[in-house]
Amino acid sequence: MTLIAVPISVDDPAAAHARATRAAEHGADLVEYRIDTFTDPAAVQRLVAGSPLPCIVTARAAWEGGHCDLDETDRISLLEHAGLADVAPAYLDLELAAYQTSANIRQKIGLVVDHPGQPRADVSTGLILSTHDFETFPADLDRRVLAMADAPACRVIKAAWRARSLRDNIDAFELIQRRLKPTVALCMGEAGLPSRVLAKKFGAHLTFAALDADAASAPGQPTLDELKNLYRWDALNADTRVYGVIGWPVGHSVSPAFHNAGFTATGFNGVYLPMPIAPEYEHFKATLIRWLDHTPLHFSGASVTIPHKQNLLRFVEEQGGEIEPLAQTIGAANTLSLRPDGSLYAGNTDYAAILGATRDKLGDDLTGKKVAVLGAGGAARAAVAGFANAGCRVIVFNRSIGKAQQLKEEFKLFAAHPLSELKPYSADVIINCTSLGMHPHTDATPCAFPDTLGTHRPLVFDTVYNPLETRLLREAKAAGCGTVNGLEMFIRQGAAQYALWTRHTPPLEVFRNVLTDRLSPSR
Ligand code: NAP
Repeated sequence: MTLIAVPISVDDPAAAHARATRAAEHGADLVEYRIDTFTDPAAVQRLVAGSPLPCIVTARAAWEGGHCDLDETDRISLLEHAGLADVAPAYLDLELAAYQTSANIRQKIGLVVDHPGQPRADVSTGLILSTHDFETFPADLDRRVLAMADAPACRVIKAAWRARSLRDNIDAFELIQRRLKPTVALCMGEAGLPSRVLAKKFGAHLTFAALDADAASAPGQPTLDELKNLYRWDALNADTRVYGVIGWPVGHSVSPAFHNAGFTATGFNGVYLPMPIAPEYEHFKATLIRWLDHTPLHFSGASVTIPHKQNLLRFVEEQGGEIEPLAQTIGAANTLSLRPDGSLYAGNTDYAAILGATRDKLGDDLTGKKVAVLGAGGAARAAVAGFANAGCRVIVFNRSIGKAQQLKEEFKLFAAHPLSELKPYSADVIINCTSLGMHPHTDATPCAFPDTLGTHRPLVFDTVYNPLETRLLREAKAAGCGTVNGLEMFIRQGAAQYALWTRHTPPLEVFRNVLTDRLSPSR
């Protein structure tokens, strides 16, 4: 069983106990009292004895990234006192580098922790030997890990370093899988989140989670609430399939909440993580190869967003996988799936989402409909390809007319015009694929609806989903037009990915609720 430890920086014992009580109520197994600056030995003993949860006691030295600036004799003496409390801590944490400094330190620590040579029968505290690198992957990590494994007093090996990229998580998983001793292997920083969440999948001894967002003891540490509720901690096991959203940046993506809620709703054994990958193709390729090659990870698919949609096509082509023909035509894919036979598939669920939401309003047969696509970027390409493929007469309008004309030539469209020439009542469908109207510029709109009675009204579709009701949609409704918001597209493109990966019927209402909770109606 992998434990969840909540770090608590101790200034005041009563406040620390109150936080430990909250941690227990929210499902933590352990707390780590960081006594870096709380250094009264008798008070530390009372802190440990009165703890509502089993605890780790750590006085992290300043030279290892902590705040404890006691000299080493006093720091070790503080840990000895903690170990000798009436109710002893579950663990003491000591840096490997300190442990290796002198036989004297090893002897002192050896007297208060449980190990094969311990003469006293009543000692239960375990020693966590730890090593940290806040800058990068330690070149001598292997040597450090072997030293910890060889130390007789060491019960748990802990190694933490700043992830250079998502690839470093695989090193952490491999370290846990070596099972030299119970092991904690964690990557710091945004790219290290998988090592923290998937610690349970690989059987790590513990992971750390902060009680509140501002209480993390290391960069990239999730909160307890995120770990338990967003990343499905209680459902994770060795067989859990791993998915994610690949982009740069992806920190604010709503996709993890969306897909993880779906997995929970249908009981699918999966977890979905943010996967930040730097823009260059070489990063994309190297990361995917490393993640796919590590078979115990069960990396099975991803949503792929800016700037990697073209990279996905190139990668799957190079790997001999299958590419959905319309994704090839669009020149961008947003979905990666690993098939049971190990082959790769790249598809584009955006165009089908746009067509599906439009057909819901206008019926299945869109042949001959006049569609004004506003914009000439990635979303517009999906709309243009989808509507053209469905037999519509597509006209593209864009601020930069050159790009609109390029799209017209490439997709053999009806016409291309500057955005300023749009006449809304002449189309059957207007779809906004520009970013106009998106938060925070919510006053912007690509199109005005003149007051003309009795004329034909188009269906107005805005792909922008933040806010849910854009100025374009508000004014279109006021002019009597039917509308579709960007949420419909988001739900449908995500639901199509979900169905592809899981073979389950997508829980659309769950998806809708997750998104509406996170996106305010007119922010
Ligand atoms: P993109 O490739 O960067 O294209 C942006 C488009 O917006 C271009 O046509 C650009 O015109 C136009 N534009 C930007 N600022 C403008 C301005 N001030 N005035 C007029 N036109 C302007 O972006 P994208 O990936 O296509 O995304 C576009 C929109 O689609 C975003 O708002 C996004 O929220 C939405 N989207 C929604 C979903 C969904 O699931 N609902 C999915 C994907 C995208 P120029 O060519 O002249 O620069």
